[in-house]
Amino acid sequence: MRPSQGSKKKNTLKKVTPKKPSKRAPAVKVKKNLLPKSIQFDPIQRTLMDTAASAILVIDTRGKIIAANPRLCSLFGIEESKILDWNESRWIEYLESTLDNPDIIAKNREQLDSSSYTCSDEVSFKAFANRFFQRQIQPILDSKNKSAGRLWKFRDVTYERHVEVIYRDIEKKKFELESKNQQLQLAYKELGVAQKSVDEANTLKSQFLSNMSHELRTPLNSILALSSILLARMDGEITEEQEKQIKIIEKSGKNLLRLINDILDLSKMDSGRMDLFFAEYSIPEFAQTIHSTIQPMLRETSLQFKIEIDDELDIHSTDENKLKQIILNLLSNAIKFTPQGSISLQIKPTKFVDVIDFSVIDTGIGIDQSNFDKIFDPFRQIDGSATRRYGGTGLGLAVTKKMIELLGGKITVESELGKGSVFKFVIPSKKQGDNPKPLTEDQINAMFLASSPKNGISDSDDVIAIDPAKKTILLVDDDHEAIYIAKKYLADGPYNVLTAKDGDAAIAMAKSYLPDIITLDIMLPKKDGWEVLQDLKKNPATLNIPIAIVSMIDNKKLGFSLGAADYLVKPVTREMFLKRLNKLHESRGLKKILIVDDDLSQAELVEEILESDDFNSEVATSGDAAIAMARRNSYSLVILDLLMPNIDGFAVLKNLQTDPLTEKVPVLVLTGKLLTQEDQKKLSGKHYYIFQKSMFSREKLLEQIYLILEKEKV
Ligand code: ADP
Repeated sequence: MRPSQGSKKKNTLKKVTPKKPSKRAPAVKVKKNLLPKSIQFDPIQRTLMDTAASAILVIDTRGKIIAANPRLCSLFGIEESKILDWNESRWIEYLESTLDNPDIIAKNREQLDSSSYTCSDEVSFKAFANRFFQRQIQPILDSKNKSAGRLWKFRDVTYERHVEVIYRDIEKKKFELESKNQQLQLAYKELGVAQKSVDEANTLKSQFLSNMSHELRTPLNSILALSSILLARMDGEITEEQEKQIKIIEKSGKNLLRLINDILDLSKMDSGRMDLFFAEYSIPEFAQTIHSTIQPMLRETSLQFKIEIDDELDIHSTDENKLKQIILNLLSNAIKFTPQGSISLQIKPTKFVDVIDFSVIDTGIGIDQSNFDKIFDPFRQIDGSATRRYGGTGLGLAVTKKMIELLGGKITVESELGKGSVFKFVIPSKKQGDNPKPLTEDQINAMFLASSPKNGISDSDDVIAIDPAKKTILLVDDDHEAIYIAKKYLADGPYNVLTAKDGDAAIAMAKSYLPDIITLDIMLPKKDGWEVLQDLKKNPATLNIPIAIVSMIDNKKLGFSLGAADYLVKPVTREMFLKRLNKLHESRGLKKILIVDDDLSQAELVEEILESDDFNSEVATSGDAAIAMARRNSYSLVILDLLMPNIDGFAVLKNLQTDPLTEKVPVLVLTGKLLTQEDQKKLSGKHYYIFQKSMFSREKLLEQIYLILEKEKV
């Protein structure tokens, strides 16, 4: 009879029923006859021994080893059967040969005679370099508290020791840091006290200078007034000789008065007590005043003097008297240090609204570059010796600089020995009640670069004359030679060439000039090329400027993913450089369209159609890529497929039309299906159009694109 399903199953079950766990032979063989009852191991104890992380050895009252767990056997490399033949003396001998410090064992040896001997210490073994073990020896007691044997235990504590060492190290460092911190706080406190006394001394100095100046000015004014009365012969005739003498008195008095005024101004500015009166003034009228004020000073010289004002300039607002003082200081220096030639004052607008650029230019003795900083320090003269050729106190430029800064501007000097100097400063418009806010470094740099005067004395890189008929290229490289070579390549070409030598200047110049093309090195001071690229691509004003990376670093993937339009690895030949720049130019004139489609063959078809007409195209094969590319580049149109994995066309459209950077880019949705009401609801924004794939033909697509571009005024 065939067994039924049920019985078969039953039989099978019977077959596979696991056998009852056999009483596993203990991992440590125990010679049962030697084992006192009190330390016979039950299965649980056995398992604990077998699996213990510590090495364990059990010795009976007669000194015979009766158990050694697997950890002990493996640690000491002794076979279990062998160790079970040993007694405690043999074990100790073995340890003596293995341990680093056998003396400890030697000492223990006598004490081990006592059955109650207990020990807990740390040992290391020659065989295990750099490892530490916690050793424990302790009696085993039976239920009546009588000795039943002895237990040896070794626990590997290496890891704990290392952690302890690290912890101790951290604690030490923490302590050092805390004490340094305390020292720093102390120094900071002391600095505070010192600063306070410096401030007090400064206030006292300012008060003293101010009082003394007032006291000196009163008699001086009398001297000057009386001199002029005498010179006007109000009290009768004077001889020629007397006239000469009185003129000397008057001139010395005026010099003294100027010095006192400078000291007074300086101390007022130092202590923040200089009053400013901001008001509107007419720049042409102001220039006229300067012109007439300066005439007497020019009388004894053969110098040519002219004032050039940009036609656009009319009304500006600042403290006119201070501005006059600044310009007269600079002009009187120019007269003093120009034995022959010409002096001019140029007044021009800058790229920044209401910021005016003033330049005092002379063809005099010039200043060595090493002295550019020093001349603005109070009491500093380049030739301060007793035999110096030119008089003066060295206060004029210090006062001038401080005053310009008070008006919210900044001054710089460009000069060459024997050729002349240009003192150039910019002043923003300030009205009464305005909080004079200093210009940012970026603004100042951009303004200085944007308006450096061409005075013929310097051929520095920063002197730029933009020819509006030409395209402008910005070369960004910190290597002078690389800039020199690129400039040579571009010489006589159709470009105005601007240069920037660090990342910050590159960004400032790009924002200020909006060049047609930028070539960008990667290794730059302040901000590297990657940062510059990202920064420019984030800014709507500079987003569209094609940037060609020109670098020794070859990382095209990163460059293009950050939005570079081209990537050239140095060294670059002249032909290659010019060819690639031309290409960037040409492509700039064409409208750029982004095709978004995960189906490459469909995307290529659209691409071919666009390229066959007057368009440049780029393809994104996923929604993610499309959003990222649209944020970095400025497209005239996005052609968008609706059905794509992950981020579909609906999501891309929503993203583009809600992002301020891309919200105005028109989108042409290409769809193969008729849109349901549900679909329609999902389409968002104003600037999207639908194109059914069923209507698809080259002509129809181009017609639709031209219609959109016209409607959107792209
Ligand atoms: P000073 O009263 O000596 O003219 P300033 O502070 O006005 O003091 O100028 C400081 C120094 O700067 C002058 O001593 C001179 O060496 C130099 N300097 C200033 N202006 C000119 C200039 N236009 N040409 C050459 N050197 C100048």
